[in-house]
Amino acid sequence: MSETVERHEFGAEVGRLLDLVVHALYSDREIFLRELVANAADAMDRRRFEALTAAGLALPPDAKVRIVPDKAARTLTLSDAGIGMSKEDLAQNLGTIARSGTRAFSQTLADAKPDERPSLIGQFGVGFYSAFMVADRVTVTSRRAGSEEAWTWASDGGGSYTLERAERSEPGTDIVLHLKEDADEYLEPYRLDHIVRKWADFITVPIAIVQEGREE
Ligand code: ADP
Ligand code: MG
Repeated sequence: MSETVERHEFGAEVGRLLDLVVHALYSDREIFLRELVANAADAMDRRRFEALTAAGLALPPDAKVRIVPDKAARTLTLSDAGIGMSKEDLAQNLGTIARSGTRAFSQTLADAKPDERPSLIGQFGVGFYSAFMVADRVTVTSRRAGSEEAWTWASDGGGSYTLERAERSEPGTDIVLHLKEDADEYLEPYRLDHIVRKWADFITVPIAIVQEGREE
């Protein structure tokens, strides 16, 4: 590993939560896509809002959430033109749990009926970690709107994550899921389309599933 890569440990709460999300919600795991699309849409809404008072932050007119399956690489990438995250934001938002709800979440989840579980995961704000239900490695490359700097956060969902400098030509975020062996279904555009229709119908920003080798 090069010396420019910083390794950080997750807080103990994150470790417990990851375990819980990955194992307890296995049968509902398609909701990872709802969580990531919702985060991307939130980020675009935040950018739109901040652009009201800060020059130069306006969203590009064709801004959308792009969902890009790549069968050869076995990755699923979500890209947005949202507010983005600085290095500190990545460490804070993806490395710690702002709300101390782990124990409550654990108990509520244990008590819930299976069909109640998908909404719980969103309610408790553990959305991002649901990516590890389908991915054994997740990288997040982000550039905060208003900054020139980009950073990549990466983790295999174990005890730690890394941060290193990156390049991104525009503000926004790319989340790359390196899919688990048993998660091939999330490389199929029709499957992704079905999940988006089922769970993300309420999202007001445009969502595009971009097929390999085809223009949007
Ligand atoms: P919640 O959405 O309930 O806050 P999540 O676990 O889904 O919890 O996300 C944690 C935080 O990570 C978000 O609040 C946001 O600050 C940040 N985040 C996640 N995805 C993105 C994204 N695509 N763009 C910008 N920030 C993001
Ligand atoms: Mg969320």
